[in-house]
Amino acid sequence: MGIGDIADGLVRQIEAVGDGVSEALFEPVIRLGVTGLARAGKTVFITSLVANLLDRERMAQLGAGNRIRAAFLQPQPDDTVPRFDYEAHIDALTGPTPHWPESTRAVSQLRLSFRVQPSGLLGGVSGLRTVHLDIVDYPGEWLLDLALLEQSYRDWSHQALAKAEAREEAGDYLKLAGATDGAAALNEETARGLAAAYTAYQHSARAAGYSDCGPGRFLLPGELEGSPVLTFAPLAPPDRVPRASLWREMERRYEVYRRAVVRPFFRDHFARINRQIVLVDLLDALHGGPPALEDLRATMAQVLGAFRPGRNSWLGAILMGRRVDRILFAATKADHLHHTQHPKLQALMDALLREARDRAEFSGAQVQALAIAALRATVEDTRMVDGRELNCVRGILASSGKQAAFFPGTLPDDPNEVLGPARTGAKSWLEDAYGQMQFAPAPLTRRPGSGPPHIRLDKAAEFLIGDKL
Ligand code: GDP
Repeated sequence: MGIGDIADGLVRQIEAVGDGVSEALFEPVIRLGVTGLARAGKTVFITSLVANLLDRERMAQLGAGNRIRAAFLQPQPDDTVPRFDYEAHIDALTGPTPHWPESTRAVSQLRLSFRVQPSGLLGGVSGLRTVHLDIVDYPGEWLLDLALLEQSYRDWSHQALAKAEAREEAGDYLKLAGATDGAAALNEETARGLAAAYTAYQHSARAAGYSDCGPGRFLLPGELEGSPVLTFAPLAPPDRVPRASLWREMERRYEVYRRAVVRPFFRDHFARINRQIVLVDLLDALHGGPPALEDLRATMAQVLGAFRPGRNSWLGAILMGRRVDRILFAATKADHLHHTQHPKLQALMDALLREARDRAEFSGAQVQALAIAALRATVEDTRMVDGRELNCVRGILASSGKQAAFFPGTLPDDPNEVLGPARTGAKSWLEDAYGQMQFAPAPLTRRPGSGPPHIRLDKAAEFLIGDKL
């Protein structure tokens, strides 16, 4: 263990004392991490979850719901973390011209507190208990950076270039990197050009449905946009690496990225989470084709690996024995499917999770898969097509504001029908491809006491926090 690790450990201990203040007052704190790749649905999930916990009529599956006497937003405990802008987001979703809120770009936090009637024998005689729910929203891309802590610049470059070879979107970058001499003296313009081309490739790979893209801040730079710490890219090692060469400087910047960007995120935010939801846009990966689905499977294993204590020795020291004890992998936007297909979506999520689990040799936390829609934007519809009934959904198109019916394709009864071809390297689906459509949130007339409409958000909440209330 290095000096840095010991220092990080000390910071954690001091913070642990701070975290304990609420707990010492017998007010348990649940720290719920909400993550997922960009556009997976984190912002919409948190907004709808909070609205539905404040007004609980649509939360029948939350067992403790009827013992919650009051729920209210409070100032968050961490003064230096941006607050999740709940009010702006709920206004966007439920205002007179509903629209999707601005997505997660960096870490943010919100505290929701409950006054709860205790259950069991004590329920009748003791007073109300206070339980705090601290929701921590952070980009899944940043979580994937954990792998960098175990890789030197040379190893990372090797792996990143090998991955790029298999992806069409990397063509321009590979051409540029191939024509670059890492042994040449550092030229800032060359370094910036490489980093820009590598970032552009990451964005197009993401848009094509790939999950394993990064480094995280290349996609979501937050406050680091344009800074030298993001001006590196993978390069094949030259035969000799002179001092002040491009390759040497790239290696140095990679080290700074690990030390000054990746470690602080894990130390200050990740290490303090005790419940976690990972949102997955599985329909988007299906739309991307077999390589995107296979990539998602590998990424889920990486995500699970981050929650396996002891796997990474640096992280192990930071966690000091604490760990996340429940993780929910939720396939989002289930309102794009007719309910008759929901069990298939859930079965696919479950199968992906099982495989990821095997791959990450994961044991410990309770892990579950679920298909949800944080905000239901569609209604169900049945259309006659070629003399056959087709179960589809209908909503307002985000692009045109017009009503449209949508059928994304038939999910298989057996998940292996799509996982098999993905695993064996198929390039496209044998049957029809899976479609994609963007609906706008539907205008709502909210009843008092009732949050926005959703699908199984209450089940998700029951798994994540139900036992603590
Ligand atoms: P983030 O990047 O993870 O914060 O993702 P957002 O929460 O901003 O969601 C990204 C986009 O996904 C939104 O703008 C919506 O278009 C869509 N979306 C998210 N949640 C839902 C949902 O429950 N139903 C539907 N139909 N679309 C959703």
